[in-house]
Amino acid sequence: MIKIAVYGKGGIGKSTTVSNVAAALAEQGLKVLQIGCDPKADSTILLRHGEEVPTVLHMYQEKKQNLKLEDIVKIGYKGIVCVEAGGPTPGLGCAGRGIITALEKLEETGAYEKYQPDVVLYDVLGDVVCGGFSMPMRNGYADKIFIVTSGENMAIHAGANIAMAVENFKNRGYATLGGLILNRRNVPREEEKVKELAEDFHTDIVGTLTRSEVVQQAEEQKKTVLEAFPESEMAEEYRILAKAILMKVREKQEVSNA
Ligand code: ADP
Ligand code: SF4
Ligand code: MG
Repeated sequence: MIKIAVYGKGGIGKSTTVSNVAAALAEQGLKVLQIGCDPKADSTILLRHGEEVPTVLHMYQEKKQNLKLEDIVKIGYKGIVCVEAGGPTPGLGCAGRGIITALEKLEETGAYEKYQPDVVLYDVLGDVVCGGFSMPMRNGYADKIFIVTSGENMAIHAGANIAMAVENFKNRGYATLGGLILNRRNVPREEEKVKELAEDFHTDIVGTLTRSEVVQQAEEQKKTVLEAFPESEMAEEYRILAKAILMKVREKQEVSNA
């Protein structure tokens, strides 16, 4: 089982990218579990044609010990298993703690035994890299972290904070950095700035995505690009990215197993 966490600033395109990568991996015949770890709880919406997945935290609050796997897991495009951790009541509780509770409930209800995913994708907010939101990097939840960024300063800033958090945990056997994903916003010196960020953290840009209207058109249909426009160049970019991510994770696994 490969466990990948994708971090990045809010609105940078994490959920869109993760959903399209999930679809590309599912096309290859892999069993994919996508877990939204953002209080927005819309990570998997494109895989479900706009139909929301009830959040683990909400369902747990309602059902407590009677919580069942069927309450919190929904199946999306190409059999992708969709989960949304959810968030605390605004103004109360810790969103990071909530993620941990949600991940624990997912384990307790037997999600991994039932679905036996080949790939688990965590879609995690990266504006706040506090102890709470860095949890998926720790405790064995994720093996590799990928950061989505554009060349906009705020996105780079968030990316650097995330990379720093990963670096801070490096010696403890937690998740390591897999690389950056450049999701273009077409700002000046975009590629250069993201390259600099990669170099600062001794990592690479594993994939580059064009800013494309096709992404928006697919979103209007409440679908991933892979489903709505499978023959488009954009769909191909997501397929290439999915392959590059898999290669990165496997290459590092081989190195660490050697
Ligand atoms: P996040 O999950 O990081 O908050 P989203 O995935 O929800 O961000 O994306 C925010 C918006 O950006 C969405 O409307 C999405 O369609 C758009 N978007 C993401 N990537 C691209 C792209 N490569 N080209 C055009 N629009 C994009
Ligand atoms: Fe929010 Fe993080 Fe503090 Fe939790 S630990 S309350 S998620 S800032
Ligand atoms: Mg999102």
